Amino acid sequence: MRIVLVGPPGAGKGTQAALLAQTLSIPHISTGDLFRANISQGTELGRRAKEFMDAGQLVPDEVTVGMAQDRMAQPDAAQGFLLDGFPRNITQAEALDGVLRDNGQKLDAVLDLEVPEEEVVKRIAGRRICRKDSSHVYHVEYARPKAEGVCDQCGGELYQRDDDREETVRKRLSVYHSETEPIIDHYKAQGVVTTISALGSVPEVTERAMHVLGQD
Ligand code: AMP
Repeated sequence: MRIVLVGPPGAGKGTQAALLAQTLSIPHISTGDLFRANISQGTELGRRAKEFMDAGQLVPDEVTVGMAQDRMAQPDAAQGFLLDGFPRNITQAEALDGVLRDNGQKLDAVLDLEVPEEEVVKRIAGRRICRKDSSHVYHVEYARPKAEGVCDQCGGELYQRDDDREETVRKRLSVYHSETEPIIDHYKAQGVVTTISALGSVPEVTERAMHVLGQD
């Protein structure tokens, strides 16, 4: 299957993407995770991306699109993938349309995770992620690790992302409304969008998503 997850920061895209990708046996491709991996490896791409990420802005398309295309061209993505955080604007959506067209493929589903804005700010302020694997996500109130500051899954150190500070979150939300939301209409025109509520427990949201994907 080829799936895109869309939703504001804090909707739980990363958490759901990791679970869904594992259940469906397809790679979870997160451009945010790819940027964070580049930053921790100290690459030139990571250095360029960090400046935009810390300001709550989108990393320029000429950096992002190539990186996403390279990842989608890896052998493990030949049978399908779940995109998390890409595309994030119309230019990127058109670039993805082009890749799919060239390969004679199409998207099976675009899942639009919906969450009220007050909830987003609460979720992000308490979010902590693992330094070793940023798909391991916790929350100081809603999803506490067994030992404070330590990842249950791999023992990595938990930290708060630089771009999870409140003023950066507000900027990321406004970028989401102005740049990312228009891709939902772009995909509605292709008839592949389903909006699901991202409220409730993690398993409840996963169940809604699996239902939409016809996998329950
Ligand atoms: P995420 O982990 O998906 O919340 O992404 C964190 C940050 O990485 C975003 O706020 C952007 O600065 C950057 N980023 C991730 N994906 C993209 C993308 N598709 N286009 C541009 N910037 C991105």
